[in-house]
Amino acid sequence: MTEPRIVTVTGAAGNIGYALLFRIASGQLFGPDVPVRLHLLEIPQAVKAAEGTAMELNDCAFPLLDSVEVFDDVNAGFNGTNVALLVGARPRIAGMERADLLEANAGIFGPQGKAINDNAADDVRVLVVGNPANTNAVIAQNAAPDVPAERFTSMLRLDQNRAIAQLAEKTEAAVRDIKNVVVWGNHSADQYPDVSYATVNGVPANDLVSEEWLAEYFRPTVAKRGAAIIEARGASSAASAASSAIDHVYNWVNGTPEGEMVTVGAYSDGSHYGVPAGLSFGFPCVSVDGRYEIVDGLDITEGTRAGIDHNIAALQEEYDAVKAMGFIK
Ligand code: NDP
Repeated sequence: MTEPRIVTVTGAAGNIGYALLFRIASGQLFGPDVPVRLHLLEIPQAVKAAEGTAMELNDCAFPLLDSVEVFDDVNAGFNGTNVALLVGARPRIAGMERADLLEANAGIFGPQGKAINDNAADDVRVLVVGNPANTNAVIAQNAAPDVPAERFTSMLRLDQNRAIAQLAEKTEAAVRDIKNVVVWGNHSADQYPDVSYATVNGVPANDLVSEEWLAEYFRPTVAKRGAAIIEARGASSAASAASSAIDHVYNWVNGTPEGEMVTVGAYSDGSHYGVPAGLSFGFPCVSVDGRYEIVDGLDITEGTRAGIDHNIAALQEEYDAVKAMGFIK
């Protein structure tokens, strides 16, 4: 057994939180030898519901769960945090403009970034799930000048997992036999799912599927999967988002398998694939020694270039909007 790690989950009483917390407590975030202390952070009106979830977590008698505490104060909630999963966000409600949504979420993620800066452990790793995830990550990162910028990430792993599932179904392969699917850019319908480097049982995916299938079916299906799930379930995806958050952090801490890259909404320092500095952008990454590193030097086709550029434009627009509001220096 190693030292326990503190994991803070915001929006802990929400749907994704409910799907996430039990998996963390059972040891799936770090591995079977690492005890966890859970901090459940909520807004005051959801604290009671989070306390109910904490009771259930205790009732599971998970051997790796050392403690569960519920907070509505950000500084206390992030005290000593090793991994912060920022799930809670303000949903878009009818009549809300995109600028209103950005502003409402900046008002959540700015203070959370500052609280992480002031209270979290030196090795803190942050994953933003709450939407608009990429820009929320930028806002939190900007409020945390003492934390290395690359420790703030956003979740594109669900988009990658959705893309793998579609490719597996089409090629009648097992998911485990598919490697190196990438989703560039924004966790939104703008994203660019890309099989240029993917293999299926070692065979290049591009030899197995047509450009027509990729353009007409694969890319739109992956990009609009969230809406399709709401349509079918009558509620947004929650367990799949939680599962992908686990994948993201597990690989970050424990490494990616040899020869495999995964998609991370990673901090751009301006030196990769023409993505401007400061954006949180879906890039192919490998995890080495506990750090996600962007994989450079991949051949970029014309189609991929156009997809990347489209996402740069979308994310730059959000970046400029929150900068104009004063949330980014
Ligand atoms: P969910 O748990 O279903 O979703 C939480 C966030 O994750 C939303 O922003 C949602 O975006 C986003 N998300 C990202 N990827 C996905 C995906 N693939 N599928 C679905 N959602 C995704 O929301 P709930 O409303 O059930 O719960 C939110 C909780 O957060 C509430 O308990 C609320 O009290 C809390 N909250 C906490 C805050 C805090 O701790 N300071 C601040 C604000 C809220 P989208 O909306 O686009 O679906």
